[in-house]
Amino acid sequence: MPFFRTPAFLRRAFPSCYWQVPYKHTQRPTLYLTFDDGPVPEATPQVLRILDQYNIRASFFCVGDNVRKHPSLFREVLQAGHTVGNHTFHHVKGWHTSLTAYLKEVSLCRQIMEETAGTALPRLFRPPYGRISPKQLRALRQHYAVVMWDILTHDYDPRLQADGLLPQLKPLLRDGSILVFHDSIKAYPRMIRLLPAIIEAGLERGFSFATLEEGLAPALTALALPAAYRYEPM
Ligand SMILES: [Zn+2]
Repeated sequence: MPFFRTPAFLRRAFPSCYWQVPYKHTQRPTLYLTFDDGPVPEATPQVLRILDQYNIRASFFCVGDNVRKHPSLFREVLQAGHTVGNHTFHHVKGWHTSLTAYLKEVSLCRQIMEETAGTALPRLFRPPYGRISPKQLRALRQHYAVVMWDILTHDYDPRLQADGLLPQLKPLLRDGSILVFHDSIKAYPRMIRLLPAIIEAGLERGFSFATLEEGLAPALTALALPAAYRYEPM
């Protein structure tokens, strides 16, 4: 049975990462939808359309190389009011990458995102596969809010079906939950059915939805950024 909620031992192993949003953004209980691995034309526009239908803002952890390939789609995400975060340039696995190479990946991703956006962006980072070494984490957390998740939708798993996933996922929604979806070709068949159903379930139970830039604002403000951080490699 796959984990839908991140187990406590994993949260304890990486206490400096955000598994849930610990701050109160509004009086209402709030959910934070996140989408990893885009932007790609086969999935991201459909996600934008659904979010727009419900007037919901979310967060997209982008792969730098996809931003390079699809710059106007990346700008569309921003123009719609969503938040973007860093997911490395080539979607690399932390455990198999040296510290220097990993930081370079993060830096390249930030560079292409900020060049394409034409502005500095919030320092949000999610390690691909959730895999990051303690050394990599120590280096990054000074400059980034490192965001994991409370609820993994498993939308990327072709052995599973949206109908089977929904009853597992719905009861897990709670105030501050960070949910992971993927705006990728692989996840699309499940994601596109799960997303509206999870939104409906959340709305029915009185949740509001917000971006991680809103939810993690106190953490982002507290980050140690060099004075001219827009132009620094880290
Ligand atoms: Zn990923």
